[in-house]
Amino acid sequence: MDKAELGKQNNTELRVSEWSGFINAKCPRCRIGSIFTGAMYGFKIQKMKDVCEVCDLKFEREPGYFYVSMFVSYAMNVAEIIFLGVAAYVLGLDIVYENLWYFVAIIFAGVLIFSPFNYRYSRLVLLYWLSPGLHYDPSRIKKR
Ligand SMILES: [Zn+2]
Repeated sequence: MDKAELGKQNNTELRVSEWSGFINAKCPRCRIGSIFTGAMYGFKIQKMKDVCEVCDLKFEREPGYFYVSMFVSYAMNVAEIIFLGVAAYVLGLDIVYENLWYFVAIIFAGVLIFSPFNYRYSRLVLLYWLSPGLHYDPSRIKKR
């Protein structure tokens, strides 16, 4: 008897925590199926799957659903820009007019580097915490 079966018998199924599911980009309903194909940073561009392989959740719940993640992504970008600007200052770049283009270059490079991260986690924030009626439900896991 394997661990999952034993857990079911004792009514203590192996639960995946919300943070673990979020950080590993798993489906918000079953927390087992992956939402994205490919790595966040890699030569192959990451793509989002249409449905969860484990519980058949359709990730795009209605047409244009992920436009909302644009607002999340915007907020993440603002936070990253402030962080990069403050970090550059703390690390010794004085706030004088001659250094303007250094700040612009650092922030622009930072935004480019963070963009795959923002793409992935803005959609995950939307699915995990901004979608009413979408909750962890291990009973929806397909039986094999
Ligand atoms: Zn799922």
